[in-house]
Amino acid sequence: MKEDQLLTRRRALFAGAAVLGLGGAVGTARLFGADDPARPVRSAAAAAGPQARTPVKSSVYRLQPLTGDGPSRHTPARTAVRHEPILSLSGRGRSMALTFDDGPDPQYTPDILRTLRAYDVRAVFFVCGEMAVGHKDLLREMADDGHIVGNHTWTHPLLTQLTRSQIRSEMVRTCAVIEDAYGEAPLWFRAPYGAWNRNVFELGAELGMEPLGWTVDSRDWTAPGTDTIVDRVEGGAAPGVIVLCHDAGGDRSGTVEALRQYLPSLLDSGYHLTVPRRRVG
Ligand SMILES: [Zn+2]
Repeated sequence: MKEDQLLTRRRALFAGAAVLGLGGAVGTARLFGADDPARPVRSAAAAAGPQARTPVKSSVYRLQPLTGDGPSRHTPARTAVRHEPILSLSGRGRSMALTFDDGPDPQYTPDILRTLRAYDVRAVFFVCGEMAVGHKDLLREMADDGHIVGNHTWTHPLLTQLTRSQIRSEMVRTCAVIEDAYGEAPLWFRAPYGAWNRNVFELGAELGMEPLGWTVDSRDWTAPGTDTIVDRVEGGAAPGVIVLCHDAGGDRSGTVEALRQYLPSLLDSGYHLTVPRRRVG
């Protein structure tokens, strides 16, 4: 696909996102925040074109049917089908989770990893397959540091506009590259733009992934400046909240710098920055 076609396609998706945001897709209106519907196109990946479309090497996800004679040895056990994403941490006390979507990006993700490491904090990275496939070293680094890597689809489409088989492909290919680079199949999934529907929940559950939403949107994709991002994260801090940030998709220098400021501040305030745990049921 040529870049201009790709841009057109993405614009169409953004337009669709806006419509959804106003009209409210089934069960998604509450979540359909301003995440990234209008965020700039992820230029590097978008421009990658052919590379981004190259299927990953065969893996258990491609070789074994998702339904049929028993579960794959590698695909996590099917989870219950939810009707909305998980929106809070289950831990006691002042626990919060930081999530970084759309990466990994070699320009920003290493700085974020460095800051998290300095404070011995674990976070969740919802990666896109087309980004991850070229930067598997960063996924390995996330694994080494104890972070969670979740599935954020391959190309970051608006899933509510895709067929069931297209959604499955977006998820399965990304599961495969994560399993290859991170060492484990993802246990968490987040729909791009927070656009969930029944197919998304069902297919995620089939692949053994739990859907994770967010409750505090830093809106860092609008590049509002470091101070604004810090204010939004600190202002939204509360027990159980899940913070949405992005480590790719545009200039994320504000995201990187903001983390250096709000992370020690939150820790000083007694917050425990942690990652979600799988629940039963
Ligand atoms: Zn995203």
